[in-house]
Amino acid sequence: MRALVTGGAGYIGSHAVRALAARGHEPVVFDNLSRGHREAVIDAPIIVGDLLSPGDTAQAIASSRAEAVLHFAGLTYVGESVGHPDVYYRNNVAGTMNLLDAMREHRVGTIIFSSTAAVYGDPVRLPIDEDHPLAPVSPYGRSKLMVEWMLRDRAASLGLRYVALRYFNAAGSSLDGRIGEDHEPETHLIPRVLLAAAGELPELTILGTDWDTPDGTCIRDYIHVEDLAEAHVLALDHLAGGGRSASWNLGTGKGCSVREVIACAEKVTGRKVPLVEGGRRAGDPAVLVAAADRIQRELGWRPRHLDLEAIVASAWRWVERGGRYARLAAARGAGR
Ligand code: UDP
Repeated sequence: MRALVTGGAGYIGSHAVRALAARGHEPVVFDNLSRGHREAVIDAPIIVGDLLSPGDTAQAIASSRAEAVLHFAGLTYVGESVGHPDVYYRNNVAGTMNLLDAMREHRVGTIIFSSTAAVYGDPVRLPIDEDHPLAPVSPYGRSKLMVEWMLRDRAASLGLRYVALRYFNAAGSSLDGRIGEDHEPETHLIPRVLLAAAGELPELTILGTDWDTPDGTCIRDYIHVEDLAEAHVLALDHLAGGGRSASWNLGTGKGCSVREVIACAEKVTGRKVPLVEGGRRAGDPAVLVAAADRIQRELGWRPRHLDLEAIVASAWRWVERGGRYARLAAARGAGR
């Protein structure tokens, strides 16, 4: 299927593009490269343009002759969204409205949307299934939930068909080490632990050691980015085969604490991670773990990387290669 992939130069989008191409689909990336990387786009053409421009967006849908859209483009930092809610609502909500209008104009009726566990807010029960109350606690989470509502309402009256995939903690890099996580600034735990192990960060600060968890640090459900990518292919095939619209969690169902991630990183790298114990980060819940069996039951999706060590090892391969697209490009330029 010809599929327009918004945000296809970003972390999760770029892995999904490769998974789509590997399964015989024809992805075309649409990205403004504000946070994505041209070098992350492998196996697909790229159209550089902005979802905030209705003209760029309609042009991308038309010129790609897309039959479906995978929508990864969006801003994803909880903390940033608190300081700049205007920017988050404009990019994540208004940008998606432009996309949905362009899809309608060009009769594209199928979309897979990157949603997030942040739509649930602070968990009232664990693990979190799809029927858990939706009560996001940040502008980021609210912007994603607003899009889910738009999708649901347009499905009810305008014939749109959608799947919203609610990611827990995406982690790792492609197994061949060609693409990986390159955020600026990098705020995520696993890359920061590895950068500290590599000596590129002076230390790793543990954000809270007094949580109500067995070792006092936060627990998250880390899911390998290639498993996330695979779920998008299955969701696309599901809709293409006439399947119903749905929102599904993507996680492993297994929680790991910050200290467990650090111990795992020390084992994988063979290095000591310099540590500082710091205070809690605003907005962090103590525990986020998915009940992820619904998509397994309904689509037959199975995460292949259930072992934290395998996830951290793939992230480490990427850091060892340079861990930054700009660095890899410079090394190539220098003939290394
Ligand atoms: N974390 C940490 N030190 C860091 C970055 C993150 O202790 O430098 C903790 C953070 O408080 C959370 C967990 O690691 O409990 C995962 O954070 P991340 O930013 O990777 O993902 P989030 O759960 O916020 O989406």
